[in-house]
Amino acid sequence: MSIENTAVIEQDRKHVWHHLNQHSVLKSQDPMVMVKGEGSRVWDAKGNSYLDASSGGVWCVNVGYGRSSIAEAVSKQLTELNFFASTAGTVPAAEFAEKLLAKMPGMSRVYYASSGSEANEKAFKIVRQIAHLKYGGKKHKILYRERDYHGSTIAALSATGQEERRKQYGPFAPGFVEFPHCCEYRSQFGDVSDYGVRAAKELEKVILQEGPDTVGAVILEPITAGGGVITPPEGYWPTIMEICKKYDVLLHIDEVVCGLGRTGEWFGYQHYGIKPDIVTLAKGVASSYAAISCTVTTEEVFNEFMADSSDREAYFRDISTFAGCTAGPAAALENLRILEQEELVHNSKMMGDYLLEGLIGLQAKHPIIGDVRGKGLLLGIELVSDQDAKTPVDESVAVKVAGMCMAKGLIIGRTNRSFASLNNTLCLCPVLTLSKQEADFIVTTIDEVLAQLE
Ligand code: PLP
Repeated sequence: MSIENTAVIEQDRKHVWHHLNQHSVLKSQDPMVMVKGEGSRVWDAKGNSYLDASSGGVWCVNVGYGRSSIAEAVSKQLTELNFFASTAGTVPAAEFAEKLLAKMPGMSRVYYASSGSEANEKAFKIVRQIAHLKYGGKKHKILYRERDYHGSTIAALSATGQEERRKQYGPFAPGFVEFPHCCEYRSQFGDVSDYGVRAAKELEKVILQEGPDTVGAVILEPITAGGGVITPPEGYWPTIMEICKKYDVLLHIDEVVCGLGRTGEWFGYQHYGIKPDIVTLAKGVASSYAAISCTVTTEEVFNEFMADSSDREAYFRDISTFAGCTAGPAAALENLRILEQEELVHNSKMMGDYLLEGLIGLQAKHPIIGDVRGKGLLLGIELVSDQDAKTPVDESVAVKVAGMCMAKGLIIGRTNRSFASLNNTLCLCPVLTLSKQEADFIVTTIDEVLAQLE
């Protein structure tokens, strides 16, 4: 290791507070400091190289590392105009909005910000303001699903169904109400033939309990990502849509992880024929070469804010400073061009199917694998100590597996407790350029690690 890199590790250990880390661990081990990325590989400050099957630890570097064309596009734009507040427009913001919406039939307006949490906050404010503009403030409640994650800020966390994220951060914002998850493998409603419909009807129960005239929107991930890679069972989405329509509830789809090709379609909701009112995007929008998020709405939602001139407060009175930084949309435009030119959404589907097949093969071999699920390059492996009883392994086992993979040059999520989403589920979300050879390496490494563990 070079002297410079030793210094960096010490600087990091002394001064940086890492996200989602118990820092007491770093008293006895070096912090991981990343220094380089190329394609699907990253290098740490100690010179170790890894195949990154986590797309940057949090499923976001969709087009892979080291894309100089994105860096050049950003550089060119920043030299031309680096910033102007989003109270006005900029060239890349207008161009990207048009190109993005062309991929989202039925959607019509893009509201920019800088993170997934923020995009969801904007959506909540839109719903709350519509409640005031149309329903005297009554239809303000937002329902969310157990196991879904919507961000780290207090309102986004108030809409998050993961106890491990919420614990010790209450009290939460009022008006957010949870309904049960839809994971068929972890069935909450017994062995029913129409599981998807049965699970979706839980939403209706909660709407009726709360009073339909108080419920403004429901927020859902199309496929639950960090909560355990939960693919919705058949019949789930049509029933959810019917319920939203019946009770005049806006459907907000959180595509922060699934958006921009992750699941083998441009957007996760497009697998299921969902017609959303609001869609939020972040991570993959610019493959995290710049901070950008989008709250996308239909024209109907947008039109709720076109008040007559007598109501001086009826416009969306919201702003975020960094939404005006042009690095975001400039990077997003080039990112979109790469996704199209290299047909990466198709590759995500093809390689996702290939990887899934490999993992299903492992399931037959390793009794510790209870379930394998996901779509495209968003896949999960649920670990159990008894396949028949589906007894989850302790979270520490999943952490150990990730650590052992890392020692073999494969990153799957993070190596601390946070990555093991359902606490016993390993998550795989490699970059969308993944090759067969790289997919084989992922499967072989997990195979070897599980054999070693058993
Ligand atoms: N929504 C989903 C589905 C996410 O997975 C995340 C982050 O992991 C967020 C929202 C929050 O995004 P951010 O961390 O950019 O605020």
